[in-house]
Amino acid sequence: MLNVQNLTFSYQKSPILKDISFKVDIGENLAVIGESGSGKSTLLNLIYGEFDLNQGQIFWKDTEILGPKYNLVIGYDFMKYVHQEFDLMPYISVSENISKYLSRFYPEESEKRTNELLKVVELEAFANVKVKTLSGGQKQRVALARALAKQPEIILLDEPFSHIDNFKKQSLRRNVFKYLKDKNITCIVATHDKEDVLGFADTMIVLENQQILEQGKPEALYNNPKTPLIASFFSEFNVIDDQIVYANQLKVIDKSNLKATVITCYFKGYHYLIEADLKEEKVFFEHDTSIEKGQEVFLSISE
Ligand code: ADP
Ligand code: MG
Repeated sequence: MLNVQNLTFSYQKSPILKDISFKVDIGENLAVIGESGSGKSTLLNLIYGEFDLNQGQIFWKDTEILGPKYNLVIGYDFMKYVHQEFDLMPYISVSENISKYLSRFYPEESEKRTNELLKVVELEAFANVKVKTLSGGQKQRVALARALAKQPEIILLDEPFSHIDNFKKQSLRRNVFKYLKDKNITCIVATHDKEDVLGFADTMIVLENQQILEQGKPEALYNNPKTPLIASFFSEFNVIDDQIVYANQLKVIDKSNLKATVITCYFKGYHYLIEADLKEEKVFFEHDTSIEKGQEVFLSISE
């Protein structure tokens, strides 16, 4: 397993991460979430061995991950990292970028693996296209396939689908995470997108103020968000009488002591999100049909 023990790190004086500890089992998918600047990428960099820790230790199985002070070449064979900025070879083809690190002594195996990965990232049609002509999202998909090519034991993904358009995103996520599960590859995903987490992550950790604010299964964090920050990651929410209430937990009923006046109505596909005024405070709730501005409604909190 990956074992991060009491990790503390700073680029300059002030710490970015303080006394961080967690474990990830073999084959497990861990999501690291947090606001922009909370240290998600820094944490992945440290797990990869890009920087030396100020304090603490990181182990993959029995191997201690060490930074540049101890290693001439950064990184380990068992680990791959897909950075937010992917560096590919622009003047060779998609296929060649993926197969570049596979052995030349097994051309058939190498071709088979490359084709398998082209399928995972849905780039079969681009196999022979030069990478420099691809869009940002397509390049990101090549970077993912290349990282998977050598079948690492553990893979670090930094906002792995951020450049990929919505038409492709859903199926690509399913392909990639399914591939990782099938091959029992441990995976750590840094993201601010709940879609990268729900349905895929076994566990998640939330970074805030240099520390782990919360850690657990996505269901547990969703059902019992400890702070508004965690609730905001999942959905639109309200704080009513010190209680966090998701917009879909508020229902319109005939009469209640929560009387609100509709301000705006947003079309969301299978429902509408309604912004209303509740005792001079904004409140959000979901509704099957649109409601006109100015209309009064009575709300109730459902479990
Ligand atoms: P996230 O990925 O969650 O957005 P980062 O890990 O990129 O957060 O950044 C965490 C903090 O560290 C930010 O305040 C950022 O400005 C700072 N930081 C990131 N990289 C460097 C660096 N190479 N040198 C100095 N500060 C950095
Ligand atoms: Mg980042």
